[in-house]
Amino acid sequence: MNLPIDAIKTHLTDGFDQSVKRLSDLLRIPSIGTDPDYNTQTVEAANWLVQQLADLGFDADLKATAGQPAVVAHHPGPGGEGPRILYYGHYDVQPAEPLDLWTTPPFEPVIVDGPRGKRIVARGAVDNKGQSMMFIEAFRAWKNVYGTLPVAVTVFLEGEEESGSPSLDGFLRAHKHELQADICVVSDTNMWDIDTPALGIMLRGLLYLEVTLQGPSQDLHSGLYGGAVPNPLNILGKILGDLHDEHGRVQIPGFYDDLVDLGDLDQVWQNLAFDEAAFLQNAGLSQSIGEAGYSTLQRIWSRPTCDINGIIGGYTGAGAKTVIPEKAMAKLSCRLVPGQNAANIKDGFRTFLEARLPAGCRYELDELGAAPALMVSTDSPYLKAAETALRDVFDRAPILVGMGGSIPAVGAIREHLGIESILMGFGLDDDRVHAPDEKFELRCFQNGMLSHAVLLAKLAGADA
Ligand SMILES: [Zn+2]
Repeated sequence: MNLPIDAIKTHLTDGFDQSVKRLSDLLRIPSIGTDPDYNTQTVEAANWLVQQLADLGFDADLKATAGQPAVVAHHPGPGGEGPRILYYGHYDVQPAEPLDLWTTPPFEPVIVDGPRGKRIVARGAVDNKGQSMMFIEAFRAWKNVYGTLPVAVTVFLEGEEESGSPSLDGFLRAHKHELQADICVVSDTNMWDIDTPALGIMLRGLLYLEVTLQGPSQDLHSGLYGGAVPNPLNILGKILGDLHDEHGRVQIPGFYDDLVDLGDLDQVWQNLAFDEAAFLQNAGLSQSIGEAGYSTLQRIWSRPTCDINGIIGGYTGAGAKTVIPEKAMAKLSCRLVPGQNAANIKDGFRTFLEARLPAGCRYELDELGAAPALMVSTDSPYLKAAETALRDVFDRAPILVGMGGSIPAVGAIREHLGIESILMGFGLDDDRVHAPDEKFELRCFQNGMLSHAVLLAKLAGADA
């Protein structure tokens, strides 16, 4: 199906006020999925979306999960050959507290002037109602102008993202066939800046470990026993202190063995103009430290890490207590990059630990989570389609970015459905996601709709 896109763009531009009005209608529904007091409103938002999609010719339903319902909708597209595209988003929002820090009530959306033009302010403005409405408005434009979508589409919007998606894995497994598609499109990420689009192509994975050292069978008097028995806190401190060498490299055996060579990409990231001062200033810092020989962007996107997240042990109350604790515990997380295998890294940590553990000290090692890094192949035809669509709308190439953290849904969709994701988001770093006065720049909303409209056409022609 090869229809001119200009009519769609004109339709979206002419109807922009109506698109903003529909987004405002959705934002007015306080779908705080984490708070049982708002269950009615959460379901109301889901039903509102089902109705919108049904009006656009989708076969749309609310599907029960163990928690908040999911919106699932299918559109056949023009028929015939061609890929099916899965769109993922979420309709639940974070609680709005602290309410007194909002300039206007969080569920009464307002359009206000900002330094970059008009913006819409409300809880969910960008995360994720605004970003989800971009593709729904793109579907609407195709329907209104050409009577159908140029490609087959399935929409899946969950209502538990802000609660950590407890039902997601089970839901994806149970609806594996219904949700089958060739590629998934997710709009829940940021642009490089307001004029420069970005596509996320790498997400670091995670290995979370909890280690407990046990020395004596109970807490001991440090005067009576100190100096003659293993102190788990002393030992743990020494072991954790050994995790990095003086160049910031992680000393777990085999930690770097399986890293994939990122080739050109690593070079690009090394040289990408990045406002490091602003990045550090957000954290109240002025100096970056990390693995020697790498730029800050590489350190947060393409290099693996090992961080201590917490240490518990001994006496921590007021005043002094002379005690040799019976146990000490630490929580550690490793951010993983492509090639690294969480099970191998865990084994490596066990070897590292056992080599340093003195007689009389036992350990327990628990895994609290493991997910591999994800990478979108840079020569995927779908990624190329997204690059072309963004170039068309912004008149410049998107920046291919890495992401330091994971997006759990992207990993789950890959694991349970076997589908890769295109991460094409239109938020900005200062959107105040999860905070008072959350906003979405209307320019980003409009460019996002246009990009999705063009992407639909490009995906129709893309083939794996
Ligand atoms: Zn969120």
